Amino acid sequence: MQPVQCVPKLWELLYPKMYVPSVVHIDPGDLYDRGIRCVLLDLDNTVVPRDKTDLSPEVADWIRRLKEKGIKACVVSNNGPERFRRVSGMEDLPTVCRAVKPRKHPFRKAMRMLGAAPEETAVVGDQIFTDILGGNRLGLYTILVVPMPGKEYWATEMFNRRLEKLVLNRIKKKFTPGGLAEWEK
Ligand SMILES: [Mg+2]
Repeated sequence: MQPVQCVPKLWELLYPKMYVPSVVHIDPGDLYDRGIRCVLLDLDNTVVPRDKTDLSPEVADWIRRLKEKGIKACVVSNNGPERFRRVSGMEDLPTVCRAVKPRKHPFRKAMRMLGAAPEETAVVGDQIFTDILGGNRLGLYTILVVPMPGKEYWATEMFNRRLEKLVLNRIKKKFTPGGLAEWEK
């Protein structure tokens, strides 16, 4: 007889569906084929280093390719709107700032703004305990990227990254060496 599974599988809330070195490794065509029509994008160290204000040409091109594919994007950031305004190249994207991820509310708000259903929405971010946990709590398609090099918020470095090390070791085992492949459930 199988034991009754009453306790939520906490680990699974921390696992992304995909783990890639950077956003430019996410193929918009592949997302589209998976039924994804909206992407909720983290800002700092996901699309732009936290201490920089310009998108790299590669990331700007990736955002352009998302749009060309018919995939809408919204920035969901725990940082404030003044930080977002300093970043050039994303002016036309809607934003949810001071999001307090992993709360569900900012993701729901972003989906409402885009007119997106959960099953057609992906979350892309560099932090397990904000981006991935928040997206998984709502059943969204979560994609973890390796953080861009650069200065981190002190609390991120002190708490989140230390905890992440424990989880990352398990996540890496779920992916092929190099961490580039889709996690097979
Ligand atoms: Mg981030």
